[in-house]
Amino acid sequence: MKGGATDGSAKAIDKALSAARKVLRRAPVFDGHNDLPWTVRVKTARGDVMAYDLSRVHEEADTDIPRLREGMVGAQFWAAFQPTNAPHPARTALEQIDLIRRMEEAHPDVLAPARQAADFAKAKALGKIASFIAVEGGVGLENSLAPLRIWRAAGVRLMTLCHNESLDWVDSATDAPRNGGINAFGRAVIGELNRLGVAIDLAHASHDAMRRVLDVTEAPVILSHSNAYSLCDHPRNAPDDVLRRLKTNRGLVMATFVPGFVSQALRDWQRRSRDAYGKALPAADPKAQAAEFDAKRGSAPKATLEQVADHIERLIETAGVNHVGIGSDYFGGPSPAGLENVSRFPYLIAELVRRGYSDRDLEKIASRNALRVLRQVESVGRRLRVSRPPAIGGLADYPGA
Ligand SMILES: [Zn+2]
Repeated sequence: MKGGATDGSAKAIDKALSAARKVLRRAPVFDGHNDLPWTVRVKTARGDVMAYDLSRVHEEADTDIPRLREGMVGAQFWAAFQPTNAPHPARTALEQIDLIRRMEEAHPDVLAPARQAADFAKAKALGKIASFIAVEGGVGLENSLAPLRIWRAAGVRLMTLCHNESLDWVDSATDAPRNGGINAFGRAVIGELNRLGVAIDLAHASHDAMRRVLDVTEAPVILSHSNAYSLCDHPRNAPDDVLRRLKTNRGLVMATFVPGFVSQALRDWQRRSRDAYGKALPAADPKAQAAEFDAKRGSAPKATLEQVADHIERLIETAGVNHVGIGSDYFGGPSPAGLENVSRFPYLIAELVRRGYSDRDLEKIASRNALRVLRQVESVGRRLRVSRPPAIGGLADYPGA
């Protein structure tokens, strides 16, 4: 029945949805990526969490507390994201980590600060959502290793190596390569993340960077918001050889909802206005260009919940069911039909119920795989901190970089 036609009648949907909710009561969703902290930063003066007020429904956006509850989210990696070219990268990373911590402090009855995998069960027992912090973008290191230790002390447990641009030590999926994947300093960053017990996020890294990191990492890796390249050939998605290596690495790929990484039809539609790396081409007159595209190509194809389920199936076929999770990448922008906001996770699980997956597999995809990976990352860190001193210095100290 997997991958086959599903019974879409209202009765079947109700039945699958109640089965999905049952699964999620046991294993609530651990979502790998949400950009709410950046939304709060840009929509309020000075990132004022109290003024944004997460406790009310934000119809204009996709994430708030009432809908996290409805969506049966048990844990969230919040992204301390910043655009690569923003001024003051080290400061901005700290400001976004601080913003997430202020979110936790503003809603102590809902968000439980989570700094290890075991905090998930503790939060669940208290009826709270485990709040994990991720840094999205190694640009905030400013080519130094010291911030890694400060970030960890501040609660960071996942680091996305780069964003849409290559850095001095790691190549981005959506930019020209400069480092053959990663260079010597990049390898030092990987080693120190292993030692600290902070998970390495290969989302946004180039395919070669993914391969080079898998060559050297001593802990499992996570792709916190990436799909299968074989189903949608956006460079942000992971190729089959990388997905297969997650089995031996014991890592995790978390399927994402970003429409351009989900739908091949949309990717093809976007191609004329994008360069080889998927970046929007500069237009002299963006409005005229958009009108021209609309006239020639018709309106954009829409990505769907069913297509996200197709990616999850392909990721399972390639990486194995023990290595797949969900990383929505809700960011206040467009989402696939059926997955408009964080309340919709049960509908995605329901689609997988209809495709014949067992409760046990669905619990793994919802959160058990993510928790297992974090536990393994923690245990590698504990072991390495006994045998290896902190790596110090910066880019210039790593010749060959
Ligand atoms: Zn991202």
